[in-house]
Amino acid sequence: MNIADPLTIPSFEDVLAARRRIAGAAHRTPVLTSRTADEATDATLFFKAENLQRAGAFKFRGAFNAIAALDDETRKRGVIAFSSGNHAQAIAYAAALQGVAATIVMPSDAPAMKAAATKGYGAEVVLYDRYTEDRETISRRLADETGGTLIPPFDHREVIAGQGTAVLELLEEVPELDIVVTPLGGGGLLAGSALVASALSPATSVIGVEPEAGNDGQQSFEKGEIVTIAVPKSIADGALTPALGHRNFPIIRQKVERIVTASDAQLVSTLRFFAERMKIVVEPTGCLAAAAILENVLDCRGKRVGIVLSGGNVDPKALAGFLA
Ligand SMILES: *Cc1c(COP(=O)(O)O)cnc(C)c1O
Repeated sequence: MNIADPLTIPSFEDVLAARRRIAGAAHRTPVLTSRTADEATDATLFFKAENLQRAGAFKFRGAFNAIAALDDETRKRGVIAFSSGNHAQAIAYAAALQGVAATIVMPSDAPAMKAAATKGYGAEVVLYDRYTEDRETISRRLADETGGTLIPPFDHREVIAGQGTAVLELLEEVPELDIVVTPLGGGGLLAGSALVASALSPATSVIGVEPEAGNDGQQSFEKGEIVTIAVPKSIADGALTPALGHRNFPIIRQKVERIVTASDAQLVSTLRFFAERMKIVVEPTGCLAAAAILENVLDCRGKRVGIVLSGGNVDPKALAGFLA
């Protein structure tokens, strides 16, 4: 098993460094509230709206931080990323803003809007078949050929640290949260959030929510080692990871209280709630944490709960289908 070098596992100080690097580049996204949601759950909910982040998801934070941390010589050779979408867009956009060339390896079935947006930011896009080809092998070959730096979507110190800045802002703006809930794919967002909560607000419990179709995180958490599953099929296309990252898992195991799941039906009903009642577009993956609360997977009665809405990139046609 590939075990992460402990030196490359981020600390809370890395999150503070990330905050300095991304200041002025990433949006400080708003924290939204809803009386309807509070009444329905008998809790006080604070939604950190990363669907309104640049490039439409929290991934911009980790991407910008990882590129900003590279030295000048390395930046000249460009960056490479593989991703089911939002990391790709984030790397493409963050690279363009910093004058760095980007090549993105994307599954051929990624939402059309995500591939188009990635190209629109000026990145080169290389497509592969999600179910038969290995994106890491393709990406590493590209890195060997070009000398470019591969920036993985979650298993990376600067990426995890960057993702942690969202909950850093949330905890500073809304103190004394009992619970912070985030979506979970490979664990960049959850690990970064847990680092921050344990440093700033140790009494706050951190909970991750992954798609019911692919509960590798929950299995790993319970077994105490990383469990790998077949690529899950779910409308939560940003969380279709077969396994947690090697740098993410130790943090999650130590600092996260629980991992729960949400079904596709629960995600659709949550997405509809955001559109109809709060007038915001949240993509299915971005609804994971909120679905666990609004659909009563987690009982939060009487609690103050921070919920990360992780992204808002959903194809307009798919969105119309979910709302119909
Ligand atoms: C990537 C992504 C996730 C999962 O994040 P990880 O860091 O891989 O756990 C959740 N929501 C959205 C919108 C994403 O793009």
